Amino acid sequence: MTKKQFKAESKRLLEMMINSIYSQKEIFLRELISNASDAIDKLYYKALTDDSLTFEKDSYYIKVEADKDNRTLKLIDTGIGMTKEELETNLGTIAKSGSLAFKKENELKDGHDIIGQFGVGFYSAFMVADEVTVISKALGSDEAYKWQSDGTDGYTIEVHEKKSVGTEIIIKIKENTEDDTFDEYLEEHRLKAIIKKYSDFIRYPIKMDVKGQ
Ligand code: ADP
Ligand code: MG
Repeated sequence: MTKKQFKAESKRLLEMMINSIYSQKEIFLRELISNASDAIDKLYYKALTDDSLTFEKDSYYIKVEADKDNRTLKLIDTGIGMTKEELETNLGTIAKSGSLAFKKENELKDGHDIIGQFGVGFYSAFMVADEVTVISKALGSDEAYKWQSDGTDGYTIEVHEKKSVGTEIIIKIKENTEDDTFDEYLEEHRLKAIIKKYSDFIRYPIKMDVKGQ
C-alpha cells in the first residue's frame, strides 16, 4: 500500500492549528458531530426527492463511544457515507476552502477568537489524536473503505468491511504529557459537557457509551 502525502498547505495549517489553538482542543468533538449531522442531513434531503429512499428518523443517530482501556473515541453516524474518492478529496486536503481566510484571521486574532469564528473541520481531531481512522460506506456503494492517518505523514486508504451505510471515525487519544492531559476526552462527564456546550442544537440523537477504566 502506498502512502499519499497531504498537500503542503494542509500540513502547515495542521501544524499551526495544533500549536496555536491548544487551549481549545475540545472543539474537535463539535466539528466531528457537526460533520456527522451534515451527513445525516444529506441523506434526509436525498430521501425527499428520491422515492426509493425512505428516511425513518428513528434509525438516524450519532453515537459517541469511548473505550478507556484502548484509549479510543469513536464517532459513529448513520449518514450518507463517503466513497473512496470522497475520502480522498474530502479528508486529503485540510480545510480546503477555509484555509486562506483562516490564516488571514490568525494574523489578527488570538487562538481563542479564531475558534469562535471558523469551523476548523475534520482535522481538528488531530489536536487530541495520535491516529485517526475513518471507515465509511457511501449510499449506493457495495464497498466500504478505511482511511487512516497520523495527521502529519499522509494517509492510507484500503477496502474494509462495513455492512451499513454511514461513517465511523476512530480516534486514538494521545497519552497525557507533562503539560497537557488527554484522558479527559475519554471521560463520560467531560464528553457530555462538551456536547452540551457546542452541540445542543443538533437535531439527531447523540448516544453515548463509555467503557473501561
Ligand atoms: P466542512 O464540514 O466545513 O466541509 P470538514 O473538514 O469538517 O469541512 O469536512 C470535510 C468534508 O468531509 C465534509 O464536507 C464532508 O464532505 C466530509 N465528511 C466529513 N465527515 C463526514 C462524515 N461523518 N460523513 C460523511 N462525510 C463526511
Ligand atoms: Mg465540518
